Amino acid sequence: SEPLVQVKRLKKYFPVHQGILGRKTGDVKAVDGVDLAIRRGETFGLVGESGSGKSTIGRTLLRLTEKTEGEVKFAGIDLFSLPAKELRGLRPRMQMVFQDPYGSLNPRIRIGDAIGEALLDHGIASKAEARELVLETLALCGLASYHIDRYPHEFSGGQRQRIGIARAIIVNPEFIVTDEPVSALDVSIQAQIINLLQDLQERRQLTYLFISHDLSVVEHLCSTIGVLYLGSLVEVAPRDELFGSPLHPYTKALLSAVPIPDPAAKRERIVLKGDIPSPANPPAGCKFHTRCPEATAVCRERPPVFRDWGGGHYAACHLIGE
Ligand code: SF4
Ligand code: MG
Repeated sequence: SEPLVQVKRLKKYFPVHQGILGRKTGDVKAVDGVDLAIRRGETFGLVGESGSGKSTIGRTLLRLTEKTEGEVKFAGIDLFSLPAKELRGLRPRMQMVFQDPYGSLNPRIRIGDAIGEALLDHGIASKAEARELVLETLALCGLASYHIDRYPHEFSGGQRQRIGIARAIIVNPEFIVTDEPVSALDVSIQAQIINLLQDLQERRQLTYLFISHDLSVVEHLCSTIGVLYLGSLVEVAPRDELFGSPLHPYTKALLSAVPIPDPAAKRERIVLKGDIPSPANPPAGCKFHTRCPEATAVCRERPPVFRDWGGGHYAACHLIGE
């Protein structure tokens, strides 16, 4: 069947100016030609170092920001050709959960109102119905009903993330982008929030784009994983394929840094040289060549093609299949 989200050749560039009012000197290529498909009911994990473009992809997929080029289809609807009014009508169907829910909660608004706000804004429910739905959603997200009248500062980090999730699911969305939803939380709390996300996915048949830099979390939660480097996907594969037989040298390096529970199982750590280059000035050829332990002359000259090597296992590297 048709994927719920289909992304084609997506680019998002941010112009760079000399000073504030100076001439344009170039572009930060935050998203630089991304193709991906997210199937209904799955969790698609997007991993990469900070600055690789993960958050920008998440925001562009929901059209919270405009694209530079390319196409995003949600349930077959071309998001970027929709007039504002129709886009607004679509908003309840696609939601976002942020890393820091405290930052997105107004300290002077009671959390019941914050959670129920979208119901009234979109005319989904009357005030009385909204209160009922807020109570139901609080319970669903593991929060006691008496919390409805409290203020954000009265909650712990984990509870605040439950509130963030409640705000997203109360409008009954099909698709949720979660941007590092557990990165700011203690390890002990992370598992509870992950369990909540999984529980809600089952109950509501949700589809997730799960953005993270933590490969252990992604392995636990995601059915398909995409690895991002400098705004481009270098590898996309079903979870077991990616973790069992990674094809791209960058993926191999990331995986080598994941701690393994069994201390007897030794794995050689691949340490990458240098930092991630600036997306304003990405290397020519393969963008990973400045850090790749396997780079050859051709890598500096020609960008490798991102292609399917069988069974939906995509990667872009000159070495594969040689
Ligand atoms: Fe490394 Fe070359 Fe493959 Fe790029 S194309 S990942 S530089 S081997
Ligand atoms: Mg980010």
